[in-house]
Amino acid sequence: MRVAVVGLGTAGAATACLLFDRGHDVTVLEQADDPRPVGAGIWLQALGQQVLDRLDLLAPLRASSCDVSRVAMAGRDGRPLLDLRYDARRASTPALGVHRGDLFTLLFGAVRARGIPIELGARVTALEPRTGGVALTVDDPGGPDARELGRFDLVVGADGSRSQVRAALGLTSRDRTYRYGALWAIVPDRAGLAGDTLHQRMDGTRRYLGVLPTGTDRASLFWSERTDRFEAVLAAGLPRWREDARALAGEFAPLLDEVTELLPAAYRSVAVRSSYRMVGGGRSAGVLLGDAAHAMSPQLGAGTSLALADAWTLAVALERKEPLPDALAWYDDQRRAHVRWYRWWTRALTPAFQSDLTALALPRDLLTPVLARTPGVPRLLVGTLSGDRTSLRRTWRLPRDAP
Ligand SMILES: Cc1cc2nc3c(=O)[nH]c(=O)nc-3n(C[C@H](O)[C@H](O)[C@H](O)COP(=O)(O)OP(=O)(O)OC[C@H]3O[C@@H](n4cnc5c(N)ncnc54)[C@H](O)[C@@H]3O)c2cc1C
Repeated sequence: MRVAVVGLGTAGAATACLLFDRGHDVTVLEQADDPRPVGAGIWLQALGQQVLDRLDLLAPLRASSCDVSRVAMAGRDGRPLLDLRYDARRASTPALGVHRGDLFTLLFGAVRARGIPIELGARVTALEPRTGGVALTVDDPGGPDARELGRFDLVVGADGSRSQVRAALGLTSRDRTYRYGALWAIVPDRAGLAGDTLHQRMDGTRRYLGVLPTGTDRASLFWSERTDRFEAVLAAGLPRWREDARALAGEFAPLLDEVTELLPAAYRSVAVRSSYRMVGGGRSAGVLLGDAAHAMSPQLGAGTSLALADAWTLAVALERKEPLPDALAWYDDQRRAHVRWYRWWTRALTPAFQSDLTALALPRDLLTPVLARTPGVPRLLVGTLSGDRTSLRRTWRLPRDAP
């Protein structure tokens, strides 16, 4: 099939490689003129690692990352609220603390090594059925007028939480910006203060400091903040921010001194009615994956793993099922319950961590230690974090490749 992959993030790059390897004629369109290896650290779960392994990218990623085998949550006074170890579930694989730039470099390299055509500076704004397939309208901000590109049998919308492909297909059922986001920085951590643990220090629901080991002597810091206060906090300067953050930092205080710049990140909550739509009389289609289909706040560290699971499942669907409508219906069906579990938990948990609902802090701080000691709960939590649950009872596995 002639496939246009819109977006060269994690979902788009992985999909391009997986579809190319299965013999499809793939073109990638990316709005950035010069995509670069930037971004905060990522807590990458076992599910995402499995997909990267199938692309032979896990071993090189491991070389610059580190295991995150524990989550430690504490209150403002340092009192432990949760100490969850991945080995609470037998044979479970620890997460990886990954620099987003390292993951990008590997995926971008994999697309380039395959010789997959990439159009940079190509912002897709619309898609239209034409004789012989779907055409894409591409707007080059630095170039002349919008132009039309294509004909494609399948357009893969991997263009992130503000997806234009999703809008063009009319599939959005929910698209909200969270009131809270994060200011983040990657800092040197030569003393290994972060160890193998994701640390979260909570002060009510309005403030928290997250510390994630990010491999090769680095750590990522996340400072929760209301998005409408980003500007004021940044304008007040780093010394002022350090003063605030020091109240929560405890033994991580030396890392605050390493921060040279804080960068803002906002989160969106996105849901779709269906992840695909047939166009042009049912012969061609658009399909969504990654944040384009299900952006969520990063409380569970699931977004990258879900995006990679989407990419794998779509590749298997196109291999196993024909014609195209059957393959996309199978993809949608495979992904639905799994994505719903993560979306539901993320929406339920986020207000207890990042919101103005300060009354939630006390029940959170009282309940969390009790739940953490309740038999079966740590195992369930680790299963959910690892990325393989669809309900309290059922687990989700990557579908097997076609025989
Ligand atoms: C602060 C923060 C921390 C996070 N932490 C974690 C974590 O610890 N673990 C985890 O698993 N997830 C985490 N996430 C979520 C994770 O980053 C996303 O789920 C993941 O990056 C989604 O990948 P994607 O490829 O779908 O989208 P993106 O990575 O957003 O990629 C979309 C690509 O499409 C391009 N694009 C957009 N519009 C167009 C267009 N119209 N035409 C052409 N190209 C376009 C963009 O330039 C971009 O390259 C975090 C997110 C944030 C904001």
